[in-house]
Amino acid sequence: MDFDLTEEQELIRSTVREFAETVLAPRAREMDEKAEFPWEETKKMAEQGYLGAQIPKQYGGSELDSVSYAIMIEEISRAVCGIGLTLQIHNSACAQPIVQFGNEEQKKKFLPRLAKGEIIGAFALTEPGAGSDAQSLRTTATPKGNEYILNGSKIFITSGPVAGVALVFAITPSAEEAKRKPISAFLVEKGTPGFSAGAKEDKMGMRAAINSELMFDDCRIPKENLLGKEGDGFRIAMTILDSARIGASAQAVGLAQAAFEEALKYSQERVQFNRPIARFQAVQFMLAEMATQIESARLLTHQAALLKDKGARFTKEVAMAKLYSSRMCTEVVSKAVQIHGGYGYMKDYPVERYYRDAKVLEIYEGTSEVQRMVIAGQLLKS
Ligand SMILES: Cc1cc2nc3c(=O)[nH]c(=O)nc-3n(C[C@H](O)[C@H](O)[C@H](O)COP(=O)(O)OP(=O)(O)OC[C@H]3O[C@@H](n4cnc5c(N)ncnc54)[C@H](O)[C@@H]3O)c2cc1C
Repeated sequence: MDFDLTEEQELIRSTVREFAETVLAPRAREMDEKAEFPWEETKKMAEQGYLGAQIPKQYGGSELDSVSYAIMIEEISRAVCGIGLTLQIHNSACAQPIVQFGNEEQKKKFLPRLAKGEIIGAFALTEPGAGSDAQSLRTTATPKGNEYILNGSKIFITSGPVAGVALVFAITPSAEEAKRKPISAFLVEKGTPGFSAGAKEDKMGMRAAINSELMFDDCRIPKENLLGKEGDGFRIAMTILDSARIGASAQAVGLAQAAFEEALKYSQERVQFNRPIARFQAVQFMLAEMATQIESARLLTHQAALLKDKGARFTKEVAMAKLYSSRMCTEVVSKAVQIHGGYGYMKDYPVERYYRDAKVLEIYEGTSEVQRMVIAGQLLKS
């Protein structure tokens, strides 16, 4: 497998890095403190084409390959990981399913607006009683005439309060009768009567992204907003989660890279026992370990992205990338705080924020335990 980046991919890294360092990084601390949706920055990212990263050009997108997409998410997350999360859900978990499973009318209706950032996309699978066990959904979509009536609720939904369209998974009793898996996927638009968002969650980290409950109370949506066929929902969700895990893995690489760079700099500035702490082998070994772990995670992420673009199966490889990268990230960020000593525990230093941001990478887009289940399932499959 060829891991060399093309000239275009190198260019994407340098342009996204420059954008992230000049537009996003200066407001990182404020975004963490205020925990408000960063509209201004999102508009600027749309102008750069980041909101239509993998949308085909004919619908106004940038049509990036998956390695370029991973690089983009890595560089944005290196500056503000919460924005990496928002971008990643918008692109991989809302726009991408429409690209992959939508009909022509749905593509024309939603993709150009998603690419321009006129609407923000959300992905709504998790429910109070259905997290890792995604098949145990309770939200129902009952067909009635030319509509479906949705009832139920979703929790922890990224961009929930601001989303212009949410991809919502619900039980369709009619699919069950037809002996198909009874989960279907629907595009639910903001402003649809009966559709509302709950209050913004107060989170430990990733506070530049906002999350909330979504409620459906006799919410009537037109039949043309069904994505794919009735009963396709579980397959759509699992396919999309494979793709989305490339982004989650890239987020972990970007966040760990930021923490490593801070630790590397600090270790050369901080003097104890009359010498920079970087002169102590214990600190050097931490830095060496961190750099090696980050590079390994980056390669695993790019491997999954390359396989996806080749059209090969990548379920196992992307689960490995997500499992390893998220664990790596919490370890690297913890070492970065350790190298900063007491200063690393103070909000004046960004590693304090990185430490809070990192943990959730082992939880969303499938917990580490779920990734192990996926990997083992693939290994044992004959
Ligand atoms: C910041 C954030 C953003 C999110 N964004 C979204 C979003 O945009 N859209 C969306 O749909 N969801 C979103 N989620 C939800 C997220 O995907 C779920 O939290 C996650 O899938 C885990 O589900 P749960 O929280 O219900 O935990 P549970 O499934 O209840 O798991 C609890 C623990 O039990 C373990 N466990 C469960 N089953 C097994 C098993 N069979 N074997 C071994 N261990 C097991 C888990 O690994 C975990 O450690 C988000 C969550 C957070 C925190």
